[in-house]
Amino acid sequence: MADSRTPPEVDRVAASRKAVAARRARASLKRDIATRVVSPQEILRRATADPASPAGTIRVPEFLTSIPAIGEGKRDRILADLGISPVKRLGGLGVRQRRALETWLDGRVPEPVARSSRSRLLVLAGPTAVGKGTVAAHIQEHHPEILLSVSATTRTPRPGEVDGTHYFFVDDAGFDALIERGELLEWATVHNTHRYGTPRGPIEAALAEGRTVLLEIDLQGARQVREAAPDATLVFLLPPSWDELVDRLVGRGTEDEEERARRLRTARVELASQNEFDHLVVNANVADAAQEVVELAEASARVS
Ligand code: 5GP
Repeated sequence: MADSRTPPEVDRVAASRKAVAARRARASLKRDIATRVVSPQEILRRATADPASPAGTIRVPEFLTSIPAIGEGKRDRILADLGISPVKRLGGLGVRQRRALETWLDGRVPEPVARSSRSRLLVLAGPTAVGKGTVAAHIQEHHPEILLSVSATTRTPRPGEVDGTHYFFVDDAGFDALIERGELLEWATVHNTHRYGTPRGPIEAALAEGRTVLLEIDLQGARQVREAAPDATLVFLLPPSWDELVDRLVGRGTEDEEERARRLRTARVELASQNEFDHLVVNANVADAAQEVVELAEASARVS
């Protein structure tokens, strides 16, 4: 006969399944911190809101070492400095410990600070495969009052792409001429192959009319816009999780191992640039992400 103090077999199986699921959820959050898909501050906020959640049950030392460039030595010094015991879980911190950790995080990995006085020029960037194009297309369809800038490119049209609608398709000499005449607000060679650039004229005309302008461009381009138009609003689109981005990047499995690894490395580097942006928007659902971007544009214009 089973000991009355031991839970029945079914309960034990259910409990162990639950424990495995919780461990997986914590591991996936740690990957999200490591790849900068989620800020450590956001995880701390989730832990505080719900101590029983995956974020709340991560042990503080594991939380710290999932932050890029924090090894075991640094971790132990930080714990000692903040007066936090290594057995503590994130959701079990006292108010003072939590504040100390928050302050330390803000100094070490600052979150973007929304700047005031932004223009109606909105840049949407983010890692490859995060869905920038889909979000931009959704905005164009539902908000015709917003001008989606049409870029010039040296790549050839794909089936269904229309010159002047999707891109201005030009050859190398044509692109050189645009640069020489100063007609591009920014331009970059994307994926080491073709050149892409944003024509200045239509943007300036639309901004002068008080319209919002949306640029869906790569990171190099976003940095150039920051230089050329410091009051532009820069939005970085994030995947809901690192695992989701991996699925979107390599999901179909048509690439070889080397290509997969290269894409994942690029994604990590791209994610690391998010702190250069004014706002982060998570693309869990295209319609919601698009709406959030539109609201940011409106809010930026209100304060400017
Ligand atoms: P695709 O060839 O798939 O249409 O676009 C490839 C990449 O080029 C995308 O990541 C897109 O964001 C980027 N891109 C498109 N237009 C521009 C542009 O005008 N400037 C820059 N810097 N990147 C662009």
